[in-house]
Amino acid sequence: MAQTPKINKDECSACVLCTTICDQVFKMSDDGMNAEVIPLAPEKYEALKAEIEEAMQSCPSACIVWAD
Ligand code: SF4
Repeated sequence: MAQTPKINKDECSACVLCTTICDQVFKMSDDGMNAEVIPLAPEKYEALKAEIEEAMQSCPSACIVWAD
Protein backbone atom coordinates (compact mmCIF):
# COMPACT_ATOMS: atom_id res chain seq x y z
CA MET A 1 0.00 0.00 0.00
CA ALA A 2 1.24 3.46 -0.87
CA GLN A 3 2.38 5.58 2.01
CA THR A 4 1.25 9.09 2.85
CA PRO A 5 3.56 11.80 4.17
CA LYS A 6 2.62 13.36 7.48
CA ILE A 7 3.92 16.41 9.34
CA ASN A 8 4.14 16.49 13.12
CA LYS A 9 2.86 20.04 13.29
CA ASP A 10 3.86 20.68 16.88
CA GLU A 11 7.50 20.20 15.91
CA CYS A 12 7.40 22.21 12.66
CA SER A 13 9.35 25.47 12.85
CA ALA A 14 7.64 26.90 9.75
CA CYS A 15 10.96 27.26 7.94
CA VAL A 16 9.19 26.69 4.56
CA LEU A 17 12.00 24.46 3.29
CA CYS A 18 9.72 21.51 2.48
CA THR A 19 7.41 23.78 0.48
CA THR A 20 10.42 24.98 -1.50
CA ILE A 21 11.64 21.45 -2.20
CA CYS A 22 8.24 20.00 -3.17
CA ASP A 23 5.40 22.49 -3.51
CA GLN A 24 3.20 19.80 -5.06
CA VAL A 25 2.97 18.08 -1.68
CA PHE A 26 3.77 20.64 1.02
CA LYS A 27 2.24 24.04 1.68
CA MET A 28 2.11 26.44 4.60
CA SER A 29 -1.04 26.55 6.70
CA ASP A 30 -3.31 29.56 6.32
CA ASP A 31 -1.93 31.10 9.50
CA GLY A 32 1.65 30.34 8.43
CA MET A 33 2.42 28.62 11.73
CA ASN A 34 3.31 25.25 10.22
CA ALA A 35 3.56 23.32 6.99
CA GLU A 36 0.81 20.96 5.83
CA VAL A 37 0.57 18.00 3.50
CA ILE A 38 -1.64 18.70 0.48
CA PRO A 39 -4.25 15.90 0.19
CA LEU A 40 -3.46 13.87 -2.95
CA ALA A 41 -4.16 10.42 -4.29
CA PRO A 42 -1.72 7.85 -2.89
CA GLU A 43 -0.27 7.27 -6.37
CA LYS A 44 0.74 10.94 -6.51
CA TYR A 45 2.77 10.62 -3.32
CA GLU A 46 4.37 7.51 -4.77
CA ALA A 47 5.27 9.38 -7.96
CA LEU A 48 6.79 12.22 -5.92
CA LYS A 49 8.56 9.94 -3.47
CA ALA A 50 12.09 11.19 -4.25
CA GLU A 51 11.13 14.83 -3.65
CA ILE A 52 9.17 13.95 -0.51
CA GLU A 53 12.12 12.03 0.91
CA GLU A 54 14.45 14.90 0.08
CA ALA A 55 12.14 17.19 2.06
CA MET A 56 12.08 14.68 4.94
CA GLN A 57 15.86 14.54 5.05
CA SER A 58 16.21 18.32 4.73
CA CYS A 59 13.62 19.24 7.36
CA PRO A 60 15.57 20.83 10.25
CA SER A 61 12.98 19.60 12.75
CA ALA A 62 12.85 16.06 11.28
CA CYS A 63 9.08 16.26 11.61
CA ILE A 64 8.02 14.87 8.22
CA VAL A 65 7.38 11.13 8.35
CA TRP A 66 5.67 8.42 6.35
CA ALA A 67 2.31 7.34 7.72
CA ASP A 68 0.77 4.07 6.61
S1 SF4 B 1 10.88 21.64 6.46
FE1 SF4 B 1 10.10 20.80 8.40
S2 SF4 B 1 10.24 22.50 9.87
FE2 SF4 B 1 10.41 23.37 7.81
S3 SF4 B 1 8.31 23.97 7.27
FE3 SF4 B 1 8.65 21.89 6.45
S4 SF4 B 1 7.90 20.50 8.06
FE4 SF4 B 1 8.19 22.51 8.98
